Amino acid sequence: MKIICIGRNYAKHIKELANEKPESPVVFLKPDSAILPKKMPFFIPSFSNEIHYEVEVLVKINKVGKHIAPKFASKYYDTIGLGIDFTARDVQAKCKEKGLPWEKAKAFDGSAIVGDFYPKEDFDLENISFQLKKNENIVQDGNTKAMLWKIDELISHVSQYFTLKKGDIIFTGTPAGVGKVNENDVLTGVIEGKQAFQIKVK
Ligand code: ZN
Repeated sequence: MKIICIGRNYAKHIKELANEKPESPVVFLKPDSAILPKKMPFFIPSFSNEIHYEVEVLVKINKVGKHIAPKFASKYYDTIGLGIDFTARDVQAKCKEKGLPWEKAKAFDGSAIVGDFYPKEDFDLENISFQLKKNENIVQDGNTKAMLWKIDELISHVSQYFTLKKGDIIFTGTPAGVGKVNENDVLTGVIEGKQAFQIKVK
């Protein structure tokens, strides 16, 4: 399986990193080795001094598809989840400065937290409330209604480039509030009041 991530999909997050609003979605990939095994702590990698959390709504693809029109996109997923796109922000800043690809900053081992999935019928997809708690504080508080590109538009867009396969996961972008993790932090993801994951940082 593969992980397809969307960058810059929430206006306030674009502002906080002083990025430009893109004309089409920013897309990058993570390999399956990026997924942190369930119940494992997240170890801060030695190559970074600035690992940021980015909580994101996840969509799990349920069948093969390519060149999917937005109006048919909803047939390609049944479940919605929540996860973290861990980012080595210091490494990413260097990549950006030099115009280099982002994989070292985004696709390293453990960089993808994939929490529990729930039936999409449980949600109003254009009004999903989700939060990330760092220890006891809410650090990110998002809602899919603030997405620049909606889930079905994202599926349509990425399927122009990549054949989607059963089990692939789309990370739909992070809202504002990203920040650094430190040793001994506990990160808890909540989607519509349900705890989708809890991760210890080491
Ligand atoms: Zn992200």
